[in-house]
Amino acid sequence: MLDRPIEYLKGIGPQRAEVLKKELGIFFFGDLLTHYPFRYVDRTKFHAIREISEELPHVQLRGVIERLELVGTKNAKRLIVLFKDNTGMVELVWFKGYNWMAQQLKMGTDYIVFGKATLFNGRYNIAHPEITAATPEVISQQSALQSVYNSTEKMKLRGLDSEGIRKAQRHLLSQLHAQNIPETQSNAVMEEQQLMSRFTAFQKIHFPETPDELRRAEVRLKFDELFYIQLRLLKLNKTRAHTVQGFVFSKVGDHFNDFFKRYLPFELTGAQKRVLKEIRLDAGSGRQMNRLLQGDVGSGKTLVALMSMLLALDNGFQACLMAPTEILAQQHFATFSELLGKLPLKMALLTGSSKSKARKQIHTELMSGEINILIGTHALIEDIVQFKNLGLVVIDEQHRFGVAQRAKLRDKNSCPPHTLIMTATPIPRTLAMTLYGDLDTSVIDELPPGRKAIKTEHFKESQRLRVYGFMKEQIERGRQIYVVYPLIEESEKMDYQNLQQGYDHLLTEFPQPRYQISIVHGRLTNEQKEAEMQRFIKGETQIMVATTVIEVGVNIPNASVMVIESAERFGLSQLHQLRGRVGRGAEQSYCVLMTGYKLGPDSRLRMDTMVRTNDGFEISEVDLKLRGPGDIEGTQQSGIMDLKLANLAQDGKILQIARQVAQGVLDEDMNLELEKNRVYKIELERQLHNRQNWSKIG
Ligand code: ADP
Ligand code: MG
Repeated sequence: MLDRPIEYLKGIGPQRAEVLKKELGIFFFGDLLTHYPFRYVDRTKFHAIREISEELPHVQLRGVIERLELVGTKNAKRLIVLFKDNTGMVELVWFKGYNWMAQQLKMGTDYIVFGKATLFNGRYNIAHPEITAATPEVISQQSALQSVYNSTEKMKLRGLDSEGIRKAQRHLLSQLHAQNIPETQSNAVMEEQQLMSRFTAFQKIHFPETPDELRRAEVRLKFDELFYIQLRLLKLNKTRAHTVQGFVFSKVGDHFNDFFKRYLPFELTGAQKRVLKEIRLDAGSGRQMNRLLQGDVGSGKTLVALMSMLLALDNGFQACLMAPTEILAQQHFATFSELLGKLPLKMALLTGSSKSKARKQIHTELMSGEINILIGTHALIEDIVQFKNLGLVVIDEQHRFGVAQRAKLRDKNSCPPHTLIMTATPIPRTLAMTLYGDLDTSVIDELPPGRKAIKTEHFKESQRLRVYGFMKEQIERGRQIYVVYPLIEESEKMDYQNLQQGYDHLLTEFPQPRYQISIVHGRLTNEQKEAEMQRFIKGETQIMVATTVIEVGVNIPNASVMVIESAERFGLSQLHQLRGRVGRGAEQSYCVLMTGYKLGPDSRLRMDTMVRTNDGFEISEVDLKLRGPGDIEGTQQSGIMDLKLANLAQDGKILQIARQVAQGVLDEDMNLELEKNRVYKIELERQLHNRQNWSKIG
C-alpha cells in the first residue's frame, strides 16, 4: 500500500501528483505519510475581527463576504475581498490564483477564514488566507490541534495548500490499516519504553486530539529514526570487532619506556594517561582499533599520538600521522624531531611539496621498513605510498578529512592498521554518537596545568585604536600576536583586498624597524609561507597577519594575542579553533573579536558565547543550535540528513535511550536472529535496500 504511486490516492490524480513529485519529492503513498506537519494550530478558537492585531501569529474568523473585486492590471492585478463579522471588517487579498478564487467565493455564504493579519496603510489585511464554507461538517472537524503543512506556490495553485494536503492525509489514513504499516520495534521494547504503535503514531502525528497524544506520537517516530541509525552503527562496530583481526600491540617496549623516562618534557596530565591506557588496551586486544580522540585545542593530543606511535614501533610496526595542511605537517615533524631526536628511529616528512628525488627515497625506505614514522599530508594516501608493515595510522584534525580518505589509509596494509582519529572540534555528544557512532571514543577533558583561561573581548570598529594600543603593550612585554582575516571562496577577491589593506594599515600603525610583521596566506608559495612562518616562530616578527591557514594546530607558545578581524563572518567552531592558537604558554592570553557595528541576532549570539566561555563542548552545543547539523562537516553520509522529525540539538535524551536500547538488542543478539528481533532485521534490510536504490538513481 505504501508503495502505491501517489496519483492513485483519492483526490490527487496525475496533475497534482506531478506537482507533488516536483515540489516535494512525494512519489508514493508512503512519502506523503512522512510529509509531517511543521506546526499545529488551535482551530477551535475564533477571533472577532475587532480583536485582530499583528501580534497574533494567525487569526481565525467567521463571517460573510461584503464585497469582492478584482483590481489593478497585469502584474499588479489582485482580488480584494471585504470580509465582515458583527464586530468589524477586514480585507482579504489574493495576488495569485485570483480568477479561480473569485469564481469560487459566494456572497452570503458563512465562511471560516484563517491566516496571518498584517497592517498595511493603516488597515488590516490577510493575504492568501485559507477560506472554507462553515458547514456543520467542517465545524465539527475543527480540532484543538490542526496540523499545518509546508506547501509551495505551485502546489497552492493546484489546491494543495496546507488544507489540501491535510485532506489528502485524511484520505490516505482512512485507507490504511494496521497491517499496512509494519511495526518496527519489538513488543518487548515497545512495552519497556512505553511506545505507541507505529501505526497509531502516524495517525496521531497528522491528526492529534490532545497535546499529550501528539507528544507521544512524536517521541515514537523520532525514536525510530534515531534507533535505526544507532543500530546500524553499533552493528558495524560489533561486526568489525568480530571479523576484522587487528594487530596485537602486546608489549610496551624500549621506545616507549625510554621516551617516557628520559625525554618526556613534562608530567602527563591525568587525562592523557587515561587515554593512553585506553589506546593500549584497545590495540592490545586483538581487535582493530577505530578510535576517536576528542580533546579541546591545546589539550595535548599530539603527545598522545606520539606515544601511541612509539607503542606501534615497540611491537615491530611502522606508524604514520596525517595532517590536513602542509604547515601543520611540518610543525608535527619538527615537534617529533625535537622530542624523539635521541631515540634510535627514523622519521620522514612527506608532503605535496616534497621533491621527487626525496619522495622516491622515502617510498623505498617505507617499503624496506627503514623509516619507522612517516608524517605528512594528503600525499600519504596516494597509492604509490606503500609500507612494509603499517600498524597505526593517526589522523589529526579529523574534520578536514572525508570518510573515504580515512578508509583509503586503512587499506594501506592487508590487515587494517589501528586508527586513531584526533579532533579538536568538540562536537556535541548527540552528534558524536551519530557521526562517529561506529567508533570508540576517548576524551581529553583536562588542559595541561598552569594554563590561564584565555580572556576574550568583543570590540567594534570605533574601538580599533584601543585595540592597537593593547597590541603595542603586549608586544612591549615580549608577546607575539596573530591577526586573522576571513577568506572564503565566494568572496575571495574582496577578502584578499581586505587582508592586504589590513596589512598595509598595520604597517603604518606598527612602523619598522621597531615592529616586524609576517604575512601568510594561500597565494604565497609553500616556500614563502614556510619562511614567513619561521620568522614568526623564531620571534623575528611580532605580528603575524594571516588568513585561516593558521586555523588548525599551529603551536607557538609565545603568541598570546589573537585578533580576529570581521569575526562575525566566522562560524563558532572556527572562532574557537582560532582562539585555541593562543593560551599555549604560561602567559595570560587574549582573544579580540573585531566586528562591524550592526550584528544580526545570530552573530551577536556567537560573539556573546565566545566572550562568555572557553568550553569547546558548550560552544559546540550553541553552534549546533544555530546551524543545525546539516552544515557540520561529515554529516552527509551519516544518516543525519535522513532525519525528518528528530533534531539532534533538541532530542539528545531520545537519542541516548535509542542508542542504549539498540546496544541492548545487539548485546543479546548480535546477528538479530532471535524471533523477537526479526522486526529489526527486516527493517534494517529494507532501509539498506532503499539506500542502495537511491544511490543507483543518484
Ligand atoms: P592539541 O591537543 O591542540 O593538538 P598540542 O598537542 O599541540 O594540543 O599541545 C599543546 C601544548 O601543550 C604543546 O605546547 C604541548 O607541548 C603542551 N603539552 C602537552 N601535554 C602537556 C602536559 N602534560 N604538560 C604540559 N604541557 C603539555
Ligand atoms: Mg593538534
